[in-house]
Amino acid sequence: MGRAATFEHAAAALADAAHELGRGASARPPAQRDAWWTLARDVLAPMGGPGQTERALARIALEWAALDDGADTDRVFALRPSAWIVVRAGGVERWLGALLDATPVPVLEVVADSPSAAPFDAAARLPPPRRVVCTGFEDEAQAAAAEVLRALADRCAPVALVALDRALVRRVHALLERTPGMRVHDETGWRLSTTRAAARVMTALRAAAPQASRDACLDWLKSDAALPATTLQSLEAAWRERRRLPPDADAAWETQRTRLAPLAVARQPLAQWLQALAAVLGPAGDDPAAQQVAAALRLDGAAGGAPWHQAAGEARPDLAGFTRWVDDVLDAGVYRPPAPPEPHVVVTPLARALLRPFGAVVCPGADDRGLGAWPAPDPLLGDAVAQALGLPTLAERRERETLAFAQLLRVAPAVLLRRLDSGGEPLGASPLVERAMRARERQRAACPAQQAWQPALEPVERAPQRRPAPVVVDGLPARLSASAVQALRDCPYRFFARALLRLREAEELDLDLEKRDYGSWLHALLLRFHVERAEPRPADEDLARLLALAEPLQAEQGLDAAQLLPFRAAFETFAPRYVRWLQARDAAGWHWRAGEVDRARDADEALPVRLVGRIDRIDRIDRRADGAAWQLIDYKTGAVDALKKTVREPLEDTQLAAYAALVASGDDAPAALQAMYLALDDREGPVEVVHDDVGATAAAFVDGLAADWRDLRAGLGLAALGEGQVCERCEMRGLCRRDHWTAEPPAGEDAR
Ligand code: SF4
Repeated sequence: MGRAATFEHAAAALADAAHELGRGASARPPAQRDAWWTLARDVLAPMGGPGQTERALARIALEWAALDDGADTDRVFALRPSAWIVVRAGGVERWLGALLDATPVPVLEVVADSPSAAPFDAAARLPPPRRVVCTGFEDEAQAAAAEVLRALADRCAPVALVALDRALVRRVHALLERTPGMRVHDETGWRLSTTRAAARVMTALRAAAPQASRDACLDWLKSDAALPATTLQSLEAAWRERRRLPPDADAAWETQRTRLAPLAVARQPLAQWLQALAAVLGPAGDDPAAQQVAAALRLDGAAGGAPWHQAAGEARPDLAGFTRWVDDVLDAGVYRPPAPPEPHVVVTPLARALLRPFGAVVCPGADDRGLGAWPAPDPLLGDAVAQALGLPTLAERRERETLAFAQLLRVAPAVLLRRLDSGGEPLGASPLVERAMRARERQRAACPAQQAWQPALEPVERAPQRRPAPVVVDGLPARLSASAVQALRDCPYRFFARALLRLREAEELDLDLEKRDYGSWLHALLLRFHVERAEPRPADEDLARLLALAEPLQAEQGLDAAQLLPFRAAFETFAPRYVRWLQARDAAGWHWRAGEVDRARDADEALPVRLVGRIDRIDRIDRRADGAAWQLIDYKTGAVDALKKTVREPLEDTQLAAYAALVASGDDAPAALQAMYLALDDREGPVEVVHDDVGATAAAFVDGLAADWRDLRAGLGLAALGEGQVCERCEMRGLCRRDHWTAEPPAGEDAR
């Protein structure tokens, strides 16, 4: 065990011991408590040798518990009745004996327990419990849920679902909640940390951290629900798209951020942290979970005992430490929801199931670990100390469990379930169940054999997943961009999802600056550089201007200087190479003519869909024997080899073909048209990757797209092609259910 784990273990043991000692004190009348604490100090006197650390921890627990100056039992000890009526069920309560001794009045005692020597004899005279054996955890949960439903069908409500195994019962609860109208009252509750109210607390603390990410801030804003949905959407969209916040969202965010100000403190006493947190969260209102969270954290000003006040005044955590403490408290706390009216099922611990009018009992987890196992000794107090101080000993705890189980078997028809395996470890029958069965055998009562659980199976029609191919005749988009055409070619179904359903992945928040951002910045920089460069000029002037434009544009685009630093270093080496390339272009007679040019080609006979696109750059050359020529240039920051591979198969190059088709279709269509990719970040400088005879490719592109479009309008399905690398990187893989159908299309199915 590492040091951190050892510390956690020791702290938990210390807290448990303090609680146990506190309970020991409260079992005494107030007047006898000082003497009891004195006895406890004697019994837990410091010692040396083996066990001295445990003893020292036990002493701390003792002094901590002794600081508490009150007990839950004080009000009972203060009563002065003329008589007591005592019902004994489920074993001995020590404080009860002390109470009766302290108030010597007549007592009517009803003993509901069987003698400890034969605890199951009374239950043996009743109908036998059914014993069901399951293979594993899920099997047992399903079986328990089925038994509850069966009992309810037999009109045995309310059914007690005994929580021997919390995880198992939580699963049973979840299964039962699938039944419409089912009312379950969970008296055991579940972790406070899993409630929405606890999540709101934690998200507020994480958002208040000095380096809080936008993810953390957004989580808080969503859980806090203080902003109107439209404002929140606008804020989230701007953050995801790395835009400046619109004014209304900006103002709303400032207001919300101000709310977190009470938590913007370096370090302060725990009590003040709690006041600050209470100020940020506001009143708990009617939400029972929020009320229980406030109570667990003492946000509502609920007074703790003296130990609490001392600890809250002395501890001075920073925000991170306070956040950890809150997380621990919420994780250790239990949320108990309010009871629904007339519940069908009551989830209850064994000790609270006694003498209650249940119609049936379902008890999963009745195995040798969950029921009747010998309890583990307290690591700090031990059985000898417990004996000396009148705390419950191991034998007493076991006897209480035995008597409680014996009572359970007398409450109502019971089903006891267990599984054979837990995480690879074999599980046996509960020793208490075995004793109960032996008692029945001794009395020659019915003792039916265990049953292996068999789920009731229903036949289900086979429904193999088919490759989707939605037919969209009237809903096809009125215009296509080059990237949309590429998507259509890659996989028509993906095109359907993106262009028709308009689905897209949300942009990640808080990502570091990506190459994509650098690419956008560089595109904008080159555009600005060329717009103001009216004619060729010396290389040193070009270089100086290109470098000078970088900084203001970075500020304009709101790019983080630190995050852009690695890219700026690359830019410093790119700039002189680019200028060299540009000077060579000047010498060859090329002129920059336009950048970021939006072009459109209206639908017509030849292509029945509008085509649109934005061309990075158009250059022109005039000094040629055969007249002027135009060159379409697309800037790329990717690998040169991939671009060369693309133009090697010209009919596969959608982008430059689409741009050429756009330029060739206008009234100003040039007689001579060229196109190329310009790879900007190659080590040797900008590399021209020319698409030869792009005019012919553009014509073939238009013909091919027109044919495809007519087919789609005629009812051809937008089939999921499901092939190659495209699928590996596809964000729609879950939507088309690519992993659930075979690559081969079913016979007769249209596939492109
Ligand atoms: S995973 Fe493959 S088949 Fe499915 S939509 Fe994407 S590209 Fe098409």
